[in-house]
This record gives sequence, C-alpha cells and structure tokens, in this order.
Amino acid sequence: MNSFTLIFLLALTVCYATQFWLSKRQFDYVLKHRSAVPDAFKERVSLEAHQKAADYTIEKGRLGIIDNILGIVVLLCLTIGGGINLAFEFWTAQVSSPLWSGIAALASVFLAMTLIDIPTSLYQTFVIEEKYGFNKSTIKQFSKDHLLQLGLSAAIGIPLLALILWVMDSVGSLWWFWAWVIVMGFSLLMSWLFPTLIAPLFNKFTPMQEGSLKDRIQGLLTRCGFNSQGIFIMDGSKRSGHGNAYFTGLGNNKRIVFFDTLVDSLDEEELEAVLAHELGHFKRKHVIKMLCASSVMSLISLAILGWLINEQWFYNGLGVQQPSHAAALLLFILVSPVFTFFMQPVSAYFQRKFEFEADDFAASNAKASKMISGLVKLYEENASTLTPDPLYSAFHYSHPPAAIRIAHLETKMQPS
Ligand SMILES: [Zn+2]
Repeated sequence: MNSFTLIFLLALTVCYATQFWLSKRQFDYVLKHRSAVPDAFKERVSLEAHQKAADYTIEKGRLGIIDNILGIVVLLCLTIGGGINLAFEFWTAQVSSPLWSGIAALASVFLAMTLIDIPTSLYQTFVIEEKYGFNKSTIKQFSKDHLLQLGLSAAIGIPLLALILWVMDSVGSLWWFWAWVIVMGFSLLMSWLFPTLIAPLFNKFTPMQEGSLKDRIQGLLTRCGFNSQGIFIMDGSKRSGHGNAYFTGLGNNKRIVFFDTLVDSLDEEELEAVLAHELGHFKRKHVIKMLCASSVMSLISLAILGWLINEQWFYNGLGVQQPSHAAALLLFILVSPVFTFFMQPVSAYFQRKFEFEADDFAASNAKASKMISGLVKLYEENASTLTPDPLYSAFHYSHPPAAIRIAHLETKMQPS
C-alpha cells in the first residue's frame, strides 16, 4: 500500500474519532445537566424550555453522527475506493477536450455528493425541526430551494471552475498564485453582489417601516458613524422559526437584515442591542480580519496544491491512476478538511474573542442588560443548549457558551 494512503487513513481516523468522542462528551454533559436549569438562568428560562433545548441538541447531534459516518463512507468510496478515478476515466472517454472532461468529472462528483446529502437534509427539516416546532417549510419549498441552489452552483461554479482549470493548464508553474487572485476577486464580487442579486432569489426583503424601531436603529447607526444601504426585514418565517440578524454586502452595498421572526420576539431595545453587537463586528474590523485570514489560508492551500500536483504519490495514494490538474484539484478539495480539522479550535478561539469584543461594543453603544435579555430569548427560541460540554464547545462553537457570554456582559452593566 502507498504510504500516503496510510497517512490519509490515519488522519481520517484521528479526525473522526476525535469528532465522535467530542459528540459523546456533548451528549453526556447535556444529559447530566438536563434535570435543572443552571443557576444563572433560573429566573429567565423555564425547566420545560431548558429540557426542550437539551433534547433538540441531542437529536441534532445524533443526526450529525450519521452524517459524519456517511461522509466517511463517501470520501473513502470516492478516493481509495476508485470513484474519482472512474469519473475521470468515464468523462475522458466521452469528451475529447481535457478541460471539459475535467469539468464534467468534477461536476458529476459534486452532483453525486449533493444528492447523497438530501435524505439527511430532509430528515433534519421535516422530522427534527418539525418535532420541535421550528419547521415552516414545505416539500414544495424545500425542492424549490434545492433546485435553485443547484442551478446557481452550476451557473456560477462551472465558469469559475473552467477559468481556474484553464489557468492551471496555461500559465506555468505559478498558476496557483493566479488561481488565488481569481478566487479572491471572485469572492469579493460575490459578497458585493450577494445582498442585491442572490439573496432575493430565496427570500423577500422589505425595507423596515417608518416608526419608533426604525428611528431607534437609525439613531444607533448615526451614533456609530455607520453608513448602509438600508435596513431590511427578511421573511425567514417562510422556512423556519429560528431568528437571526446579520450584515451583508461590501463597501457602499452594505445592508442590515433582521429576520421577521426576530423582530416579532425581541423588544425594540433588545433589537437595538443585537444590532449594536453586529455593528461591533464591523467597527472592530472583524470582517476585514476574517477576510485577510481566509485569503492567507487560501494562498497557502493553493501553494501546497501547486506542489502536490506534480507528485505521483498524491494521486496514487488517493486512488487516482492518471494524474491531471482537475483530479488534483478535486482530491485536494475533498481530502484537505481531514488534515485541517485540528485548526478548527484555533479559528473558533478567534471567533469567540471577536464575539466578546462585539458584546463590549454593544454594551457601550446600547444597554448591556438588553443584550442579555435579547440573548436569553434567542437561546430559548432557538432551543440552543445552555450547558454545552466545555471541550465540545471549544472545538465547535463560534460563539462563547451562553453562561460565559452573559457573565461577561454582566460585568459591563451600568448601575441604573
Ligand atoms: Zn457576533
């Protein structure tokens, strides 16, 4: 057996064994704390809501494990099982242009992976979300969303893929640098176009009506010196009862979006605090920092691919007989998450640090007490557990666990 096959199998085993172990810890921890609401939340959260969050967390976690097992099987079938090799052999025989046979092979593998994911997605939406009262989608809506996503991925992804494969074939050994320039330019263009061109294909965005809430938000924006292209309400309730608020767009194309479900459940001061938190991410330059970090990461990744692409052992170790640029790209996309898994806690650490900074910003530009009550409502309405396992959350959570986050905000409260 090729020694790279062994290294890959070892990394895969360690990566998934760690994930299963962390999930097991999470289940045990949540179950152990299921019988009582933690002291910090005793006055704010009912035992019923706390137990609903525990059960919901565990059911979603179990589905996550099945999803992981499926992921392992698919990855092994595609690589050392010979799936990718088969796809390339098939398309090379059908299509004479190496560029187009490569595109066809990649597209068919991605299509197969998308189809394999549908049953879990159906179960998540129509069994788990339904059971806990979150699902508002219908089979018709679900099918429409998936077809639209598939159509968009093809319409945007195939030209981008064609351009990258062409660069790989044509510009010589520094192709990976030019591919990086294309990927970066493309992702900036997408972030800029997303709010006005793509998001409206899935949801309706209505400008927020004049009134006390809009005045309050406008006041906050002026106080923080923030320009935006408007405040919008999104019909999130068309698919789910989960609430959220976010910023989108770049430069002068920025929009503030509130889910209608959030506007219905939080009061005006709580909404102001939640938005102040989001503004904090922007004002403390988190958006720019994340963008820089991800662009450095993609440059490093592409440089590594620039080296691997000439190594026969890379292809053979992952079940591909005939080296090609398209095959290298596909193998790299599929296999690199197994090797980068252990960087996840590092990025989660920085994300949590940013969350504290954004909470500090919210506390100084709105009321910390309202940020806390807004958060508690969000945790309760999204049935997020208040008692995650510390190791599990350090690995997986982009936000600090509820108790830690609220304790931090409490230190920022002005005596009233
Ligand atoms: Zn945040």
